[in-house]
Amino acid sequence: MVLSLNLPFQHLLMRDPFPKFVQLLKKTGKIVIVTHWNPDGDAIGSSLALYHYLKKTGKDVQVIVPNSFPEFLHWMPGTSRIVNFEAQESKALNLLSKADLIFTLDFNSFKRLEKLGDVLSKTSAKKVLIDHHREPEKYADYSFHDIHASSTCELVYEFILGLKGKAHIDKKIAACLYTGLMTDTGSFKFSSVNSKTHYILAELLTTGIQPQTIHSAVYDNYSAHRLRLFGYALSEKLRLIKGYPVAYFCLKAEELKRFEFQKGDTEGLVNYPFMIKGIEVCALFSESEGIIKISFRSKGKIDVNTFARTYFDGGGHLNAAGGKSKESLETTEQKFLDAVKSLF
Ligand code: 5GP
Ligand code: MN
Repeated sequence: MVLSLNLPFQHLLMRDPFPKFVQLLKKTGKIVIVTHWNPDGDAIGSSLALYHYLKKTGKDVQVIVPNSFPEFLHWMPGTSRIVNFEAQESKALNLLSKADLIFTLDFNSFKRLEKLGDVLSKTSAKKVLIDHHREPEKYADYSFHDIHASSTCELVYEFILGLKGKAHIDKKIAACLYTGLMTDTGSFKFSSVNSKTHYILAELLTTGIQPQTIHSAVYDNYSAHRLRLFGYALSEKLRLIKGYPVAYFCLKAEELKRFEFQKGDTEGLVNYPFMIKGIEVCALFSESEGIIKISFRSKGKIDVNTFARTYFDGGGHLNAAGGKSKESLETTEQKFLDAVKSLF
């Protein structure tokens, strides 16, 4: 028996501009879905969920990612059909040139796609943005954007409902959506989680997906080296800043190499210092592929989105943002130490 919950906020799931999207999809044949550089669980989850949904409604649809994604997401249904722009550029260019509609998921600036962003900015196809990050750029012809959504997967769920497509949400689509909801909310514990998030999760579970299986596929799928890297970082590399509730790590390329670093291995490390009483901001600087990749996390009203935008060519959410630096690890660390007071 398929259970259907009927909660007071169910009407909120059917929001505004759907007649417009229904019309748009009616006249569209070839669709491409793109997501951001270094795709995470929400990027791949939302893209594949929308992919499976659109396929079921008879569309010719493809997912293109700017570069590869971590091993712990490879189990997700449909990953074998994802086109990696970095590895399959001519195939991706061909698909983009033929598309009548391009969905851009889980990002809101072409800068988040690196080289694929330049290509996208020159395509003539109409663009639909579905995203929950702050300060979207105005490239999209149609937007479904909400900074209060826990994840892009939450928005894709609402989008499908808005298209009256709920009956199409099967186990495959539910597994993709559940994964993005889980990874973007720190397994349902961030401040973005509310009753609507749990309502959506409850509905997804009625398809028969198993939370424990999905959690395990994502989080119990690392090498021993990765666990040792966490141990090393926590014991040797954790830095506290005197006079500020801030803790951070800097990891050099050679340190990552020592622990046989694979893409995704530092995922989650940035949050650990919150376990220290009083810590309100955490940061992780890691040297990879010739640049410094930066993650920021904060509590309450402390705005790491603005901080990442102002100092580190990045952005994201109020309490979780990222950025990059082309300077050395030492110079980047010093820049952070000089800027950190602006957070308070
Ligand atoms: P993470 O630290 O997990 O890589 O990213 C945290 C959040 O910030 C995510 O929502 C991610 O999309 C966003 N983010 C990460 N790196 C960048 C960046 O370089 N630029 C922008 N605009 N957002 C980023
Ligand atoms: Mn997201």
